Amino acid sequence: MKRLLLFVAMLGATVSLSAQQKNDYGFYHYQDAKNPQMARHIMRREPLRCEIVIPQVNGYNVYKSDLHTHTIYSDGSVTPEYRIREAWLDGLDVIACTEHIEYRRWEGIMLQFLKGHVGADAKASNNQNPKVDFNLANTISVREGAKYGLTVIPGAEITRNAVNIGHYNALFVKDVNTIWNEDPAEAIRNARKQGAVIMHNHPGWSRVTTDMTEFEKKVYEEKLIDGVEIMNGREFYPGLVTRASELGLFVAANTDIHSTTGRDYAMQNQMRDMTLILAKDKSLASLKEAILARRTLAYAYEQIAGDEKLLKDFFGACVEFETISVDAKGKRTMIMRNKSSIPFYLQFGDANPVELRAFTSRTVSTNAKGEISFKVINMWAQGEQHPVLKYGF
Ligand SMILES: [Zn+2]
Ligand SMILES: [Zn+2]
Repeated sequence: MKRLLLFVAMLGATVSLSAQQKNDYGFYHYQDAKNPQMARHIMRREPLRCEIVIPQVNGYNVYKSDLHTHTIYSDGSVTPEYRIREAWLDGLDVIACTEHIEYRRWEGIMLQFLKGHVGADAKASNNQNPKVDFNLANTISVREGAKYGLTVIPGAEITRNAVNIGHYNALFVKDVNTIWNEDPAEAIRNARKQGAVIMHNHPGWSRVTTDMTEFEKKVYEEKLIDGVEIMNGREFYPGLVTRASELGLFVAANTDIHSTTGRDYAMQNQMRDMTLILAKDKSLASLKEAILARRTLAYAYEQIAGDEKLLKDFFGACVEFETISVDAKGKRTMIMRNKSSIPFYLQFGDANPVELRAFTSRTVSTNAKGEISFKVINMWAQGEQHPVLKYGF
């Protein structure tokens, strides 16, 4: 059936554009010009990009990014082409391609498939003597991203023992082939030598604590680390916002997607994890400047984490207040209007929290004179604190 649809769609596209007609239900009708009766009941809907709306914050555009993804070029289940198109449909502006350098699940199978075409000695390569071009996934992704106006950050994941050493994404890399070294710290240094930004990935994954190991202490002290994942997939480490603040690291929330976001997020009515980057534009230079200046917020599963001042500015950009009445006793009623795709959960005093979902408004009344304050409980700042917002009138 699918094959037939595709065939008819191609036929429609090549034979005559005028044969495409939208019916009352938004489906496209494909009609065979020679035999209109034939194709009358074949209809197709297009997948469309979901637009995530976030107003400018402090004069910067807020770019939706994922700084941690995988494809079949390491241990992911999909091609880079699929990963890029998926990101565009999900509403992202920026995606980093970050294949594991040391772990490539499909390579042996791929080489097996090519046996006889790449020489008799073709077999899964080892890390000391890679027979693969580690840059290929980046090259394909950059080329594919250009088709959608999606910025692709070339990257790689330095992948060592999760308990003692950890995983580190090198972003904005120039040549992945020159990164690997037996000493993981040296691999990180190799990446930095080519101008890479280093992110400490999922610091709590496969571990019982996010406390620093000896190796982490060493690389943090040597200032080899620029940022840290506060959220990775379904994991959230609110305590690490404090580390980011104290050590001057950027915060990130990334999917680390290996399968599809359709399965892992959309089927659960969730947006994918996003690192929100406040930048002038989405060129690599501007994005790198913004990341190193720590103008990022982590967003996943309706939780937003990062620097307290930035969180407050973010909320202020997304939600506006308007007084609609003040009665004789001074009771003021206001509308809170959420102009963004991001939901907020608010607590006024000791009352039960209320929600202000994406693109909704609610009224709020107060007897307070001159100022109303509330806690945004789905925002996480340093010290695992929820920022307290004050609105003056
Ligand atoms: Zn990892
Ligand atoms: Zn990963």
